[in-house]
Amino acid sequence: MSKEKNLQCSFCLKNNSEVLMIVSGAKANICDECIHNANSIIEQELGVLDDEHKNVKKPAKNAQPKPFNYKPVDIKTYLDQYVIGQDDAKKVLSVAIYNHYKRLTQKIKDDVEIEKSNIIMVGETGTGKTLLAKTIAKLLNVPFAIADATVFTEAGYVGEDVESILSRLLQAADYDVDQAQKGIVFIDEIDKVGRKSDNPSITRDVSGEGVQQALLKLLEGSDVLVPPQGGRKHPDQKMIKINTQNILFICGGAFEGIDKIIARRVQSGSIGFKSTTEQTQLEKDNLIQYINALDLRNFGLIPELLGRLPVVTYLKSLDAHALRRILTEPRNALIKQYKHLFEYENIELIFEDDALDYIVSKAIEFKLGGRGLRSICELVMNDAMYELPSQKHEKVFTVTKAYAQEKIEKSKFAYLKVA
Ligand code: ADP
Repeated sequence: MSKEKNLQCSFCLKNNSEVLMIVSGAKANICDECIHNANSIIEQELGVLDDEHKNVKKPAKNAQPKPFNYKPVDIKTYLDQYVIGQDDAKKVLSVAIYNHYKRLTQKIKDDVEIEKSNIIMVGETGTGKTLLAKTIAKLLNVPFAIADATVFTEAGYVGEDVESILSRLLQAADYDVDQAQKGIVFIDEIDKVGRKSDNPSITRDVSGEGVQQALLKLLEGSDVLVPPQGGRKHPDQKMIKINTQNILFICGGAFEGIDKIIARRVQSGSIGFKSTTEQTQLEKDNLIQYINALDLRNFGLIPELLGRLPVVTYLKSLDAHALRRILTEPRNALIKQYKHLFEYENIELIFEDDALDYIVSKAIEFKLGGRGLRSICELVMNDAMYELPSQKHEKVFTVTKAYAQEKIEKSKFAYLKVA
């Protein structure tokens, strides 16, 4: 530790007038802010913060949302380690997270108040929406909760009140209201609360517009009374007041059929598809890149809700190349996980290239994006994982295409397929 003048942190290059304290070592110095960040990274990387079963992530003890020294580029670089492709969504999220922190630390006296940029991510199932949200949670030191919009119903109906999202966030913050008020919430399947405009039913739409209205209240930044244990509210329950002004909401949904809505707008609008060249065909296949709030409105989200979700981004469908990369490249890629499991048995696990290509081809048939890969790998690997731990002599186990094919063909794969 030193108060010596002209000391500079070897990590962030700040000098001692810019930080509280600099600790100097034999050949390097480190400031209090970098120590704090390094500590958070160690805790996150060791996985001690995840609580998979509750879909919540607890912040480190005494966690503070500041200091936060990641720039948007750093956030994207971090996401790149876990999520393949989806560059546009990653950039949008990186900027939104960065600005979220700016908001949290902005001084009250500032004339210009930075407005919250809640985000909506559109993309087929299994393209990485939840993975992106979870990976962000790993990086950050604020409470994080995931909720599924399909369980919400209007007050008075069976199901959960929308306020239960905040109960989860509160739990994730260990009931520290102040922390919860700075957290991030991921609401999945937001498309399922689309107003069913073509539904001729005259009865109230239990899962549609009413839920959107209720969500609106949360998103627009107000005081909300939350039942601490979640579930439905009841009269005798003690409520906790949470202000949602600084909570960042990220919504995700598949919005099945939205490509037709985009196509209609794009074809009648300025972009237009003039020719039938290969490039144009490619763009038609990836219409999702042109998505905007108008399409979401035409899908059934109410304008008021869209107004509170100003950042719209998309995730591309995963092609064979992307799926192949997902198998092997992310830090905790599936194949790496299997290799690791086999290492415990002192067995080297080898996947031949064409075995991996075969798994990818089955995942495409499966039509569940990245999610399908895991089920297929399980079918291929289950017998080996069952038998090998009891064998003494096997030191190397090679998965060939023929082996993978045999396991898949004798399995119930055909019945698992999405029609
Ligand atoms: P959804 O878009 O439906 O939320 P998820 O993020 O839950 O999809 O993806 C399901 C699984 O598929 C992930 O846990 C991950 O293993 C894999 N996956 C999907 N997309 C990607 C991606 N872009 N990069 C890496 N893995 C992915």
